[in-house]
Amino acid sequence: MKNNNNNKIKITIYSPNYYTYGAMVIGGALQKSNTKYDIKLIKNIDDNNLKLLLKSNFVLLSLYSTSQIIDENLKNIVNFIKHKSKNTKIFVGGPVSAYPEIILEELPVDGVIIGEGELTTPNIIEGSKEGLAYRDINNNEIIINTPKLKKLEILHADLLIPKDIANQSIRGANVYIETHRGCIGNCTFCQVPTFFGKEIRSKPLEEVINEVKEFKKRGVKRIAISGGTGSLYNFKKEVNKSMFMELLEKVSNIVGTKNLSVPDMRVDYVDEDTLNAVKKYTIGWVFFGLESGSDNILKSMKKGVNVKKNLNSIKLAKQCGVKVGGSFIIGAPNEKEIDYLLTKDFIVDAELDDVFVSMAEPIPKTELCNLVLNTEIKNNPMFMPHNGQYKRLNLTEGEARCFDLMLHSENWKSNPNMITKQLYSILLNESKKDGKNIRDWLYVLDHCKGIDLAYHKGKSGETYNIGGRNERTNIYIANKICEILDELYPISKNSKLRSYKELITFVTDRPGHDRRYAIDASKIENKLGWKADENFDSGIIKTIEWYLGKYNNDN
Ligand code: SF4
Repeated sequence: MKNNNNNKIKITIYSPNYYTYGAMVIGGALQKSNTKYDIKLIKNIDDNNLKLLLKSNFVLLSLYSTSQIIDENLKNIVNFIKHKSKNTKIFVGGPVSAYPEIILEELPVDGVIIGEGELTTPNIIEGSKEGLAYRDINNNEIIINTPKLKKLEILHADLLIPKDIANQSIRGANVYIETHRGCIGNCTFCQVPTFFGKEIRSKPLEEVINEVKEFKKRGVKRIAISGGTGSLYNFKKEVNKSMFMELLEKVSNIVGTKNLSVPDMRVDYVDEDTLNAVKKYTIGWVFFGLESGSDNILKSMKKGVNVKKNLNSIKLAKQCGVKVGGSFIIGAPNEKEIDYLLTKDFIVDAELDDVFVSMAEPIPKTELCNLVLNTEIKNNPMFMPHNGQYKRLNLTEGEARCFDLMLHSENWKSNPNMITKQLYSILLNESKKDGKNIRDWLYVLDHCKGIDLAYHKGKSGETYNIGGRNERTNIYIANKICEILDELYPISKNSKLRSYKELITFVTDRPGHDRRYAIDASKIENKLGWKADENFDSGIIKTIEWYLGKYNNDN
């Protein structure tokens, strides 16, 4: 496809919010493959960038999080491009491509570039279908062409570094660079080993250094080294300490120790030498994925370490003068109260410098996701109502534990924080992102009958609330709809989905989103004799049957 104006193929890579390293790699790979490509990398949408997207022959959406797929803004942009510029082809790539079916369901794009795309993307631009998932226009079926290449060496190409890279801040760093890919870990909640594989593939040090110099030329000050676990750089059967230390030393020689961090480390791949190097050449922090204070949970998460190992590595890091942040995952389907209490004890013992608490978010295609799907809602702390000390806050057990652990951590950090009213509200909000907002559900015809009754029989000027006395959480409704659909309209045998529930994803609430709407319908019941004919279970089935009838007939 050629652009008549200047004979160049216009490609815009849109990496929402941040210029991710992956987006820069793809840009560099495209640049290397064909001089006729005119490639731009953008991270936000303003009038100019919108025009750029509409003029592009190809738009590549670089997405790193499942929640981006269901982001309404992104959907609107994709719809807008499709509507206004019929010849623009849109492809999605990045870590989200592990589950192309979801993307093709949610976004009207032309295809999904599967896996690491630096070798396949240039060919896909030229019309190849290898490494592409797309919807067949003849029968509407999703075709998934996994790339033939099993093992991909990290491509040696210059990155496409945008001019304003120095203006961005990702947790304090202007850019996270990738020195290696893959992870030898098995953590059940993580998609890294599935996406990048278990073999560690590292960039030659010389290339890393050249990249860092290039970033510096563009004004970048602060660099974070990522790639899963930092100390696995050049890992071959065991940690290559000398290469890891040389990496830190050489990068810090360019940017300075105050501007280098190597945040993510596994407790079982650090020792005195590596931690001393972190202290000497970087800002002097490590972040360990500690996840839980219960050996049972660590075992079920396949962390490959136990509580004792976690505590020992924290102690060692502190002895080396390195500050330690730790992250915890709360509310896994099999987390018992005792496991949670052990995690609280662990936080007291560990005296961490910083603590991150998150809920067990089931990322599609991970073992955790399967466990969530196979656990009855009533046994999953993420959905069980909390009846303990935070009962009045209307939280689930998972949320209550998450909130409680955040408060607890503030008290037991090396530098404890006072729990102010403001901090209390911030932490409470952070704990409630789970679809647990409560709404009152009423079958539509019952609602119509209520309105009709109030209109004809009600007293002029009076207010009548109409409600079903059927308060249910949003997540309950989503699960229920999926269960009924699985029964009434089973997923095609060719699909990789086993249940509609696999399509459930969580989105951020809009600001000020109400936690609960409740309706007291006693006035219309007592004064006008209104009563709902349907209960929740009969009403929801009728509703779903109506929609199935409508959309099947429309097709
Ligand atoms: S060690 Fe880290 S990157 Fe590796 S599988 Fe576990 S969570 Fe994922």
